[in-house]
Amino acid sequence: MNRPQQVSQAPEKCASCEGTGKLAVAAGYGVSCLVCGGKGSIMVAQPAGACHQCMGSGRRSATALCLACAGTGWMRVVIQG
Ligand SMILES: [Zn+2]
Ligand SMILES: [Zn+2]
Repeated sequence: MNRPQQVSQAPEKCASCEGTGKLAVAAGYGVSCLVCGGKGSIMVAQPAGACHQCMGSGRRSATALCLACAGTGWMRVVIQG
């Protein structure tokens, strides 16, 4: 049995929207989170590890996304599709 090694993956909470799938852009007005596509979670290869650049916050500053994890807050995010 020589099958390719499978990396297990599991959904983890999206740091940008904190799992809600929505971003509040103004009081009473929100848009779907682009980082997770509005799902509130993203697939991460296990064992999941928080992004070292932003310490899992998904942000470099109040307004800028972390480039290392693209705002997810996680390392080794599995790109789907
Ligand atoms: Zn999100
Ligand atoms: Zn990051």
